[in-house]
Amino acid sequence: MPSFVTHLEAAIDGTRLPHDMIQTMHKDRPLWVRYDLDAVRRAVDPQQIAMRPPTLWRYRELLPQPDDVKPVTLGEGMTPLLPAPRLGKELGLVDLWIKDESQLPTGSFKSRGLAMAITMAGHFGISRVAIPTAGNAGGALAAYAARAGIEAFVFMPRDTPVVNQMECVAAGAKVYLVNGLITDCGPIIRKGTEQMGWFDCSTLKEPYRLEGKKTMGLELAEQFEWQLPDVILYPTGGGTGLIGMWKAFSELRALGWLKSEKTPRMIAVQSDGCAPIPQAFEAGDRFARPWENACTCASGLRVPAAVGDFMILDAVRESGGLAVAVPESEIVEAMRSAISAEGISFCPEAATCVLAARKLVAQRRIARDERVVLFNTGAAIKYVETMPLDLPTIDNPHAVDYAALD
Ligand SMILES: *Cc1c(COP(=O)(O)O)cnc(C)c1O
Repeated sequence: MPSFVTHLEAAIDGTRLPHDMIQTMHKDRPLWVRYDLDAVRRAVDPQQIAMRPPTLWRYRELLPQPDDVKPVTLGEGMTPLLPAPRLGKELGLVDLWIKDESQLPTGSFKSRGLAMAITMAGHFGISRVAIPTAGNAGGALAAYAARAGIEAFVFMPRDTPVVNQMECVAAGAKVYLVNGLITDCGPIIRKGTEQMGWFDCSTLKEPYRLEGKKTMGLELAEQFEWQLPDVILYPTGGGTGLIGMWKAFSELRALGWLKSEKTPRMIAVQSDGCAPIPQAFEAGDRFARPWENACTCASGLRVPAAVGDFMILDAVRESGGLAVAVPESEIVEAMRSAISAEGISFCPEAATCVLAARKLVAQRRIARDERVVLFNTGAAIKYVETMPLDLPTIDNPHAVDYAALD
């Protein structure tokens, strides 16, 4: 059995495309990977999966790489699903959980998608990849490309967090700072693809990053013993994670692995400094209008136009969920207070979900006793610029005034 993939399907119009060759998009819109789920059901069950090593590759029957292809891996997944009683109490929730993706290689959940994309790129004999990035995707691409011996080109806005710049350089990628936003980086790659021999690893412009991100949903289901929570709060940029999880839940339902029919309300959260998805949601539109003058310290959410906008909005609406924007001015304080409540390394992107939870509980759109999962998509330490420090100094270590420390 090479893999359980049957074909690729255009998300915009259902066109079937073969999967045994390099594919990118159809009509400039993303592709779904489709599997023979009846064959998957006959081949494996949750008890067998439970006995496998704790990485995302434990779900291999639901992943696209053929059997004889060795995954390009840094040991990614499974990430902890942590109860958060202190933060829950502050937010008015009694059953709050954090899916802590900050503990993945390269410090963000981008490693899930890029481990998968680079595994497939290697399988197809691709030797040069390129990516536009708000930060973490570049770092993950650089690391996995290094691991696979593939050449990587990274294009990022000039004001991308410095840790992201550093991790790409350290991993040997060719890194360029662009005077513009991520939406200005994409076209540089698209126009240069032919001349440079690049394979474009942009969000949703190849079909496999989505499958890697899907494993967040598979893991969550397994960690909750195949019963899904009531609500998922997800900091949404390009939307791969939210779309991927919704796909995971529908595949699990088709497999009959879920113990109850209940699926979560998916809540897409953005900053009001860049909120194209909430804007389209409120307007009842299926496609989002590009956001002007996008500005947020949650760099992963600084995506003014997402090629998978309709897939995000479809998933949110099908799930009975919402898309909400929270005040940019409150993100850094929410991040600090959430970290100090739980010791979890919340990134500014996840802090938007903390703010959203507080608002939605107050508006009674999330009930106090519902099971809520908040995705912490990256590690706080990657964002040194967000929290300027001005710490008191002890000038003379031999004559400390203890009363002044209290
Ligand atoms: C990329 C990124 C996001 C947005 O993820 P999508 O799945 O593309 O919406 C959120 N948080 C962090 C830390 C990111 O790096």
